[in-house]
Amino acid sequence: MSKTEVISKEKAREFDKQDEFQQYRDEFFLQQEQIYMDGNSLGLMSKRAETKVNELMESWKVLAIQGWTKGNYPWFYLPEKLSEMCAPLIGAESKEVMICGSTTSNIHQLVSTFYKPNGKKTKILADELTFPSDIYALQSQIKLQGYNPDEHLIRVKSRDGRMIEEDDIISKMTDEVALIFLPTVLYRSGQLLDIERLTKEAHKRGIKIGFDACHSIGAVPHQFSDWGVDFAVWCNYKYLNGGPGSVAGLYVNKKHFGIEPGLTGWYSSKKDKQFDMSHTLEVEESAGAFQVGTSHILSLAPIIASLELFAEANIEKVREKSLQITRFMMELVEQELEGLGYYIGNPMEDGRRGGHVCLEHDEAIRICKALVEEGVIPDNRPPNIIRLAPIAFYTSYEEVFDTVQTLKRIVLEKRYEQYGKERNVVS
Ligand SMILES: *Cc1c(COP(=O)(O)O)cnc(C)c1O
Repeated sequence: MSKTEVISKEKAREFDKQDEFQQYRDEFFLQQEQIYMDGNSLGLMSKRAETKVNELMESWKVLAIQGWTKGNYPWFYLPEKLSEMCAPLIGAESKEVMICGSTTSNIHQLVSTFYKPNGKKTKILADELTFPSDIYALQSQIKLQGYNPDEHLIRVKSRDGRMIEEDDIISKMTDEVALIFLPTVLYRSGQLLDIERLTKEAHKRGIKIGFDACHSIGAVPHQFSDWGVDFAVWCNYKYLNGGPGSVAGLYVNKKHFGIEPGLTGWYSSKKDKQFDMSHTLEVEESAGAFQVGTSHILSLAPIIASLELFAEANIEKVREKSLQITRFMMELVEQELEGLGYYIGNPMEDGRRGGHVCLEHDEAIRICKALVEEGVIPDNRPPNIIRLAPIAFYTSYEEVFDTVQTLKRIVLEKRYEQYGKERNVVS
């Protein structure tokens, strides 16, 4: 689209007609009179997810204990089946991927495995804009090693409060650093870090590096194996539509197979030995070794459905639409919202942004409350961020158009003024 062309509602409808993803809209439970822009926080439920949950409930009802090895999805092998389905989204071999735990528990697992302070190398390198749970986990891992996190957790500073420059991260990769742990996409600004470059630079200095891919999985393709990333974690309830608190994922590069997990349990066993019930653990030679206890079978059910949809749609195509529809939103913001106090806080270049648009406004909290009242579901990150995520699978261009019009009306007509300034408990 040329810059001078005015984007109209008709234009949005035209884009929808050409959009291959229109066929997937009907796969999801969209609410009447509502525009859902929060798929980066909690993806919508798909109809197939409901079917899979019912199917797994039925297997429990009918098969009981025999469900571990019988039925359409024998429970004992379901995590491995999901690893295979998820591997293309990570850019890894199936054996390098496991669907288990939660993001935070997987951080604890993999940091306790790969953070081995030795001599001068005692520090963990992270960044100051990272998600709090990641920081809390790193701090407790440092304490468990007998160190003071105030000294041993380095947080790379942001120059503008939005982005973290790769150059600044690299300049902190000193010989005191034992481990690096960073997000792939920053949860506020949506900045996509150059994972390949950072991995190369870390390895040049003999430092292991892991990533939190919560905000890129299902929105951005990854090539973790090719890039040589040591490990990664992610959740499956954001762009992956796995449902509230659904089971998370982890990746461990195959060069580390056989390493003793920081946290072990009977699910770390070689699968054929697990039921020997021996007190001597024989660690599985795959990412499966990093499981601890029994798989959360019912919470895995929606992920089967989600990964089927991704296999059909193809992650490269998902990324293509995601870039196009977020760009469409940014162009509309520039066209419609000038002078109303909105500022686009995410990087503008395609290669540097994830799947959401980060709109900043001094009245973000009250604008978000007004948006919900007007049928648009955003999320709010204090103090001043409105995150909006048009999702490849189920958001239409027309909905993006209407969202921007709503943002305009709320400020132009001062509709936000009728709401309180306090943040909601869950925002
Ligand atoms: C969503 C998110 C989490 C959430 O962790 P849970 O263990 O699932 O609660 C952690 N880190 C990042 C970067 C996230 O985006």
